[in-house]
Amino acid sequence: MSYKLGEVILSRETIARRVREMAEEIANDNGRDKGLVVVGILTGAAFFLTDLVREMPEDMDVRVDFMSVASYGDSTTSSGVVRIFHDLKSSIEGKNVLVVEDIVDSGLTLSHLIDLLNGRNPASLKVCVLLDKYERRKTEVKVDYCGFRIPDKFVVGYGLDCAGMWRHLKDIKYVIEE
Ligand code: 5GP
Repeated sequence: MSYKLGEVILSRETIARRVREMAEEIANDNGRDKGLVVVGILTGAAFFLTDLVREMPEDMDVRVDFMSVASYGDSTTSSGVVRIFHDLKSSIEGKNVLVVEDIVDSGLTLSHLIDLLNGRNPASLKVCVLLDKYERRKTEVKVDYCGFRIPDKFVVGYGLDCAGMWRHLKDIKYVIEE
């Protein structure tokens, strides 16, 4: 099977506008001097996170850290275990944490990750996703900030890949299977 790029679902302008709104909402909710550790889930969310934090006010206490994880099992089987490939550099104990993910689909990865991070006793833990494929949810995940709800079709660009390709696209596009 081969893949080809389809139509744009979210343009760079639409994404940029929404990212600005989300950053403002997060800054207002969190308070500027309270401190926020923004945890990006590699690799996809790195693109969204770097734009998001640069839209936050300069006087806000923002730290950035990254994690790389994989959820064992697939859409049909889940053991509830997250394997960590790359862990956070700093402790999140007693900190206000915002987990940033590119897309939530079944919800399994994120829900396992939330359990794992909550086990490290942060003061608070919120979740921010750029895209939400809500129709596909298998487990409930509390998403505090969501960029866009999208239909159940595979998308690429702005960090999202298809077998490692197309992360670098500025717009988010559908993929067509041939
Ligand atoms: P979940 O555990 O919520 O099912 O999985 C979320 C992960 O599935 C995302 O981090 C992403 O890697 C992948 N994923 C789900 N839908 C898409 C999609 O439409 N495009 C891409 N590129 N990845 C997706």
